[in-house]
Amino acid sequence: MRINDLNKGKMVNIIMENLRYLPAIDQLQREERFNAIQKRENIAFNVLTNWLIDIVDQLRQDLLVKKAPTFSNKEEVKAYIFQQLEEEIAIFHNTSQLQRVINGTGIVLHTNLGRSRLSDAAVKQLVDVARHYSTLEFDLEKGARGSRHAIVEEKICRLTGAEAAIVVNNNAAAVYFVLKALAEKKEVIVSRGELVEIGGSFRISEIMQLSDAYLKEVGTTNKTHLVDYKRAITEETGLILKVHKSNFDLVGFTAEVSTDELVQLSNSHQIPIYEDLGSGTLYDFKQRNIGKEPTVKEQVQKGIDLISFSGDKLLGGPQAGMIVGKKEYINLLKEHQLMRVLRVDKFTLASLEATLKTYLIGRETKDIPTVRDLIQPEETIYRRAEQFLKRVSGRYPAWTFTIKKSMSKVGGGTMPTEDLPTYVIEVTHEKFSAQEIADNFRRHETPIIVRVKKETVHIDFRLIEEKDLDVIIQAIQTVS
Ligand SMILES: *Cc1c(COP(=O)(O)O)cnc(C)c1O
Repeated sequence: MRINDLNKGKMVNIIMENLRYLPAIDQLQREERFNAIQKRENIAFNVLTNWLIDIVDQLRQDLLVKKAPTFSNKEEVKAYIFQQLEEEIAIFHNTSQLQRVINGTGIVLHTNLGRSRLSDAAVKQLVDVARHYSTLEFDLEKGARGSRHAIVEEKICRLTGAEAAIVVNNNAAAVYFVLKALAEKKEVIVSRGELVEIGGSFRISEIMQLSDAYLKEVGTTNKTHLVDYKRAITEETGLILKVHKSNFDLVGFTAEVSTDELVQLSNSHQIPIYEDLGSGTLYDFKQRNIGKEPTVKEQVQKGIDLISFSGDKLLGGPQAGMIVGKKEYINLLKEHQLMRVLRVDKFTLASLEATLKTYLIGRETKDIPTVRDLIQPEETIYRRAEQFLKRVSGRYPAWTFTIKKSMSKVGGGTMPTEDLPTYVIEVTHEKFSAQEIADNFRRHETPIIVRVKKETVHIDFRLIEEKDLDVIIQAIQTVS
């Protein structure tokens, strides 16, 4: 027998021995440790049993491929199994796939981080409706079935000046719905300069195909004239579509037909006109010199038949697609079979109603986080950054923190060319690279998402609240 074979034989013996140490499940169930965990964690007996079965199975496989540690007796194996169980339970309790993060990117409508944060009033209403039965489709006056449309319709109309309104799942659904309901098997005229793609997965041309409407492109990428639209109108035309250029800017040698001209054209040919406004805002950011977004009210006043916009972009509410406009068209949508498919749930309606009420009492700049964060004065941001600096200065010698002037972005494909003046804290560490710092922050118990810029980490203080400072300091202590 050669040496190698001898070693091999010894190894096989160890594996066999270790496999023999694996306890039967009922043995584990009889352990005091099992009872203690079950009691402490309030996990059902059979669930905990299955959890153990999985761990033992995994251990058996690991032993066979020599991935597990070697044990010298049965007690060691049991201890290992229970330790494994404790770790898995802790991970299960402490992490959710969907969890809160601190947004240090300065991007207010960060689509990957959940876009708008809801106002306190919206959250309160949401929780109340979630916990209890509600008047979702119940008319208290009549004691009979009511309409869920009625919950927000009047409020949207008061805020936008529109005759009627409905709410669907999101603005992408709104675009699809309007095309399907008004222009199925008909032609939809769109300028080539407006055939946009939003967020990678939403293209006007593809939504059009999906809705069985025929795209009739007019003009060129940079210039479209009224005559281009005029020439395209035929018996087959079902709709004139205008898409708001929310996520890009066309500059240079360009021409675009104004909404007023298009409304006139649509009226004279009795073809409905629909504008996908994208973000859509109820608050006039122009008055603060932020962007050039028209308010929904301004667009409604132009006489557009239907307008749609998002609930969780500039409006600062829950994910939703708002469709506003003339009664005859909104009624058509209300009665369409797809309405049932695209309708929103009570949580959306509850938080949306509360958000709209905040606008109705003129408190949006104070109480709606999205609006408040966007118009925040630089000095306020500076003060919070300075407060942070005071708390860390001199305490963490491996780190340097510097206050710098910088720019934040609106995000969510909204006002792409707009830069909002802000203050950031530039963070460096004597040992860790910027990417390593960012990775550590991101893996913190409450993850902190930052900007990595030219080998430095920037924490934009626009969206950092006072209570977040403790979390950031904790993360710094953990990394130190
Ligand atoms: C964002 C956007 C959409 C999609 O809206 P969601 O609410 O995200 O579905 C559609 N059209 C335009 C022009 C947009 O900017």
